Amino acid sequence: MLRTLQYIDIITFQRDLLEWYDQNKRDLPWRDNQDPYRIWVSEIMLQQTQVDTVIPYYGRFMAQFPTVFDLAAAEEQTVLKAWEGLGYYSRARNLQAAAKEVVASYAGVIPADPKALGSLKGIGPYTKGAILSIAFNMPEPAVDGNVMRVTSRILKIDDDIGVPAVRKKFEAVVRELIPESDPSSFNQALMELGALVCTPKNPLCTLCPVQAHCRAYEANVVSTLPVKSKKKPKKKIPYAVVLIQTASGNHVIEQRPDAGLLANLWQFPMVPVGEVGNDHIASWLYQEYGLALEHLKHVGALKHVFTHMIWELTVYTADLTDETIYDKRLKAVTSEALQTYPFPVSHQKMMHYIIE
Ligand code: SF4
Repeated sequence: MLRTLQYIDIITFQRDLLEWYDQNKRDLPWRDNQDPYRIWVSEIMLQQTQVDTVIPYYGRFMAQFPTVFDLAAAEEQTVLKAWEGLGYYSRARNLQAAAKEVVASYAGVIPADPKALGSLKGIGPYTKGAILSIAFNMPEPAVDGNVMRVTSRILKIDDDIGVPAVRKKFEAVVRELIPESDPSSFNQALMELGALVCTPKNPLCTLCPVQAHCRAYEANVVSTLPVKSKKKPKKKIPYAVVLIQTASGNHVIEQRPDAGLLANLWQFPMVPVGEVGNDHIASWLYQEYGLALEHLKHVGALKHVFTHMIWELTVYTADLTDETIYDKRLKAVTSEALQTYPFPVSHQKMMHYIIE
């Protein structure tokens, strides 16, 4: 047995946690059954995203793509549109690429084999463990930041959870804790405890079903765990975004490159203003896209925070002097058509400047 586990009575801990889960689990749409496709989609959506935000997206996504075959056969732009607003769009692209692989290589049956499942795009160690345990009832750990926080407190583990290699230690610990009889409920119970009771700030220790097993509580060090090294401050990148209208009242939009950040999504033209300043917006757009503008007007500003950086966006409106658009990256579309393209959240938020 691992040294970290020598102070815990694993059997009673499992029993206390599972009894609490049985009586307190939230009624969530992906808990209706153990269909691996439904579990998979939910786990991808829940990465970096709150449950309350995911629920309506999940319902619409499952109605639009009820099976792995439907998702595999869909147009990428349709999938991105369904994901619009959820952020981290590479999740949607990887999910669809993996769905195509499941259809092509596994006849549409999601593999219950750890190696095969882990080789699919977008399925990392956590998601693999979650699908194997929740859908297939296999005793596999599913360790994310939430589970590391809970486990670090219960077992008083003070390794830095910001260090990637530390996850392996937690996986080994959780593997020992999972009961063979019900891995599905056990992993979900750990996650649920982290979401409802053992929260990052002000955990509800007095109401906690596993308080009797918790070494951090016993030693009065709950507030010091988990240990997490500070992240570097996010880099701020300023852009001017220009909402350009053509003479016939259409709007100029641009498709982002097919790789990298927000790949293949649509946006309003963005001008890097870090070095050149705002005076050069019109000349930059002319040089980059051949767009001749007039009536450039400042209308607002907003920020968008990504994992590693922040976009600081200053928003302008402008008119195009010439109806013709030569650059292949751009399109001029009507206000109605604008709604059918997938946009990142920051650009969706700007639409009210041009649409009543
Ligand atoms: Fe978390 Fe407090 Fe429960 Fe320990 S007693 S598991 S710190 S909520």
